[in-house]
Amino acid sequence: EAKQRGKNTVQFYAPSMNLAAQRRSVVERRLRGALDCGAFTLHYQPQHDAAGDVCAFEALLRWTDPELGAVSPAEFIPVAEDAGLIVPIGAWVLNEACRQWAQWHREGLPSVRMAVNVSPTQFAREDFVASVVDILSRHGMAAWQLELELTEQLVVQDIQTTAAKMQALRDRGVRIAVDDFGSGHSALSYLMRLPVSTLKIDRAFIRDLGHVDGASRVVGAITALAHALELDVVAEGVETAEQLREVRGLGCEFTQGYLLGRPGPADQARATLLRIDGRPAVPGAPDRQ
Ligand code: C2E
Ligand code: MG
Ligand code: MG
Ligand code: MG
Repeated sequence: EAKQRGKNTVQFYAPSMNLAAQRRSVVERRLRGALDCGAFTLHYQPQHDAAGDVCAFEALLRWTDPELGAVSPAEFIPVAEDAGLIVPIGAWVLNEACRQWAQWHREGLPSVRMAVNVSPTQFAREDFVASVVDILSRHGMAAWQLELELTEQLVVQDIQTTAAKMQALRDRGVRIAVDDFGSGHSALSYLMRLPVSTLKIDRAFIRDLGHVDGASRVVGAITALAHALELDVVAEGVETAEQLREVRGLGCEFTQGYLLGRPGPADQARATLLRIDGRPAVPGAPDRQ
């Protein structure tokens, strides 16, 4: 009775919080069965180089639940993290993205890199490096065609372990990107000690271009930093021609965003690959990074 009253009190004072908690528990319950009933798919969003050519696809997880409809990864990924479901889900994503890459490769389509998001919990698993190596060999995919996107959150957790794991992946040729760069709290001194290949500038900075004083200097500074560390740099969330012109003017050669390509199902990505001319598949080519 008292417990019930306590609940009601919470509900009374913070109805929105309670609704959010309810939604969360429904999402978690539905997520538990999602892998088994094949409710996940991957969409692919192209990345473009300075010449406007597609140089990579980022695999983005999509979930359509029979009850809830389509749920955004921004909502369900954190729930999956907390519920301990991200490890099997993440393993499915990695395998599916590499399987898809291999299928396109077998079809003789131009080879472009595949970028896959990896959650901190997934990366923290002791068997993570082995699982990546296993998936690559299962699909006959060259390691340098895979880029793992990790957030700054992970970078600050345990620098020693993180660096060692990243190095093990880099030694095999797998590329590492720091996703949403600038949105977290990673110290530059940490970043410099990690064998990353790419910085992805957080979308928020690109959105601010032309609106917020100093935004272009920040994007320019991150680009210069990346280049000083000999890293590739990708501007995320490029939506307008003006933003594209500006980031390129600031020296950022790689872009990803709705302007040049929206995420879409495998068929859409395949159609994009079919349009690429004069860029034959190059199995076994060395990492030019
Ligand atoms: P992210 O890795 O930073 O992925 C980029 C997000 O920005 C994607 O959202 C993409 O659809 C969106 N985006 C791309 N271009 C534009 C643009 O021009 N404008 C705007 N407004 N948005 C753009 P999405 O697919 O909803 O994914 C959100 C986040 O969920 C991802 O951010 C990533 O952190 C996470 N996520 C998605 N798939 C996976 C996955 O397989 N594993 C893990 N661990 N996380 C994932
Ligand atoms: Mg990403
Ligand atoms: Mg990002
Ligand atoms: Mg993000």
